[in-house]
Amino acid sequence: METHPGDDAVPLKRPKGRAAPESLPWPQATREQWNDYRWQLSNRITSVDDLAGLCGISAEETRLLSRVTDLYRIGITPYYLSLARFDDPDDPILRQAVPSAEECFGAESGEDDPLEEEKDMPVPGLTHRYPDRCLLVVTNFCSMYCRHCTRKRIWAMGEAAKTEFELSKMFAYVKRHEEIRDVIISGGDPLTLPTERLEYILKNLRKIPHVEILRIGTRVPVVLPMRIDDELCSVLSKYGPVWVNTQFNHPREVTPEARQACDRLLRAGVPVNNQTVLLKGINDHAEIIRKLNTELLKAKVRPYYLFQCDMVRGLSHFRTRLSKGIGIMEALRGHTSGLAIPSYVVDVPGGGGKIPLMPNYILSIGEERTVLRNYEGIIVSYEESPDDGRPSARPETAPAAPRNDVYRLLTGEVRALIPAGNERMARRKRRCESASPTT
Ligand SMILES: *Cc1c(COP(=O)(O)O)cnc(C)c1O
Ligand code: SF4
Repeated sequence: METHPGDDAVPLKRPKGRAAPESLPWPQATREQWNDYRWQLSNRITSVDDLAGLCGISAEETRLLSRVTDLYRIGITPYYLSLARFDDPDDPILRQAVPSAEECFGAESGEDDPLEEEKDMPVPGLTHRYPDRCLLVVTNFCSMYCRHCTRKRIWAMGEAAKTEFELSKMFAYVKRHEEIRDVIISGGDPLTLPTERLEYILKNLRKIPHVEILRIGTRVPVVLPMRIDDELCSVLSKYGPVWVNTQFNHPREVTPEARQACDRLLRAGVPVNNQTVLLKGINDHAEIIRKLNTELLKAKVRPYYLFQCDMVRGLSHFRTRLSKGIGIMEALRGHTSGLAIPSYVVDVPGGGGKIPLMPNYILSIGEERTVLRNYEGIIVSYEESPDDGRPSARPETAPAAPRNDVYRLLTGEVRALIPAGNERMARRKRRCESASPTT
């Protein structure tokens, strides 16, 4: 068992070094309180002064950081802070949780909403970007505010959950759109909602016949694992299939408490997948990602995505180059369990969505053979099957919606996809129109 403040037998290991706190601000907490998520929430660090009281920040730095938190609030659970090592200036826990001046100084580069989620919002809080799934922001509240958050822009709207009226508009949209079969409940952190409110959301979405699966995006297993209690688990299993996507970014976050939280979810029939954000100086090394992902497999959590850090205002100090992510993928594939290998994706500016990136394994494509290379650098000639004229399989049901994408180029339905506003096509059209006697 980990040690906790208030545990008389084994005192919490005091971080050593320059910025070491003399004591944690919760020396009176009992183990019972520590394990109660409500206690964790009401004892969050919510100001730079709280933090300064903990880890010897100079008065000048305190003033500077207060200017940062005027823009982007601070919130750290005692549990998450207890994972920190204060003597390490590059501590991966502190870098994710403690504000830095770069959040403001780096503000010239990046945008508040580079993924244009707001532009793909038919009703406030609901982003419908992909054909068969949509994303709902149901609250702006998080138990911990990650400094690298992509949705930092919504923090300014206050720590409020969406009202029943706002939610009802989202439910109505999902109901009207029969093509939506997968609803992602996001935020903020949906698992910080009161259990009844979460149940209300799940129940209403479950009532919609075409909604097949519900997903919850949450960092609670990482920053507030005690929230995953029996009551919550029974609600989640009642409205299944519910999937949870969480965000472990560093092996040090995979603690006994976090494993237990994931285990409770799994026992409730909720598969847990992980979405790591690639962060400079925190986890941008193949060995850290490999260790993280194999630790997650031990907890039966599947690494799903490795996200390129978005071009959001105030995040530039966290961003790596794309080559870093591709290099990490190169170091994983073949070298460790395939289950430990996520897809590396970049969510592109302008609402283009997620694009997977990986090293090239195809060296050359010929008519009869394709030349591939493996992870060791062995180059292989792969014989293609001869075309024997037999048709491919046919699905029992016709594809749902007409497509207008690259896939149609492969099926031969269209010969080219032409960008809107192509000047040559516009000229053609004008010529046709002027030649036509009917117009
Ligand atoms: C990431 C995302 C999804 C889900 O994408 P998957 O690849 O299905 O996990 C859906 N909607 C939006 C707006 C997203 O950003
Ligand atoms: S938990 Fe998610 S939504 Fe909340 S601050 Fe962290 S990254 Fe952002």
